[in-house]
Amino acid sequence: MPELPEVETVRRTLKNFIIGRPILGIDVYYSRIIVGDVKQFIEAFTGEVFCDIDRVGKYLIFQCQEHAFVSHLRMEGKFHIVDSDEPVNKHTHVVFHMDHHQDLRYIDTRKFGRMECVDLHHYREQMPLKKLGPEPFDITVEDLYQRLHHCSLPIKTALLDQSIMCGIGNIYANEICFYMHMDPRTRASRLSKKRVAELKEVAINVLNDAIRQGGTTIHSFDANGIHGLFQVQLKVHGQKECSVCHHPIKKVMVHQRGTYFCPHCQKKRY
Ligand SMILES: [Zn+2]
Repeated sequence: MPELPEVETVRRTLKNFIIGRPILGIDVYYSRIIVGDVKQFIEAFTGEVFCDIDRVGKYLIFQCQEHAFVSHLRMEGKFHIVDSDEPVNKHTHVVFHMDHHQDLRYIDTRKFGRMECVDLHHYREQMPLKKLGPEPFDITVEDLYQRLHHCSLPIKTALLDQSIMCGIGNIYANEICFYMHMDPRTRASRLSKKRVAELKEVAINVLNDAIRQGGTTIHSFDANGIHGLFQVQLKVHGQKECSVCHHPIKKVMVHQRGTYFCPHCQKKRY
């Protein structure tokens, strides 16, 4: 599942291909990808121009001249830029025809991704974005401390709660706990303000590092038709041996999510 760094990589990559280009027509092959009325969606964006792409957490916001739409890739969603005469396959669900006989195509083998028309100027105050907490980059230590202090969940589960802080998924939640030398099952409410300040800094560093490296490839994933471009060196998620102490990495389930940690390096520290 793409997390904030992957979505940011898609945003930056796609911008190079679509900004300033017109939407000449839209074909929707699987209507459930579009939240709301499909015909209205097609009418709203046909004749529009892609002006910019914003990102909030794991959501992309395609800004046009008069309208915008939010896109969430969920498990397997991808955008491709292809020539219009390339055949549409069974996983192609939405096609935006652009100029120069090129398409922006939304491809999703699992069909979990969604697109939804939103207000161009007020999308942050609208669903689905208004339910999201701030990103690690924007949240203050005091705010994060208050949010975690009232949270009875394990810290790793709290990191996944998009209403507390948005953009972190399972992979980077594991990585952040590793860099904090913290057992992922540590109760979030027990963290001191000093630890919360560290947590914010570590989260930013982990995300920025991944953005720099272009996101991970747990699932192959591409914005412009290039496979396997993204590969981040993960310290603990999916690993067998700790790179610091060489003890085995342990995998447990925490609130139904696969959780990797080094029992030797990561302790319950508050
Ligand atoms: Zn270790």
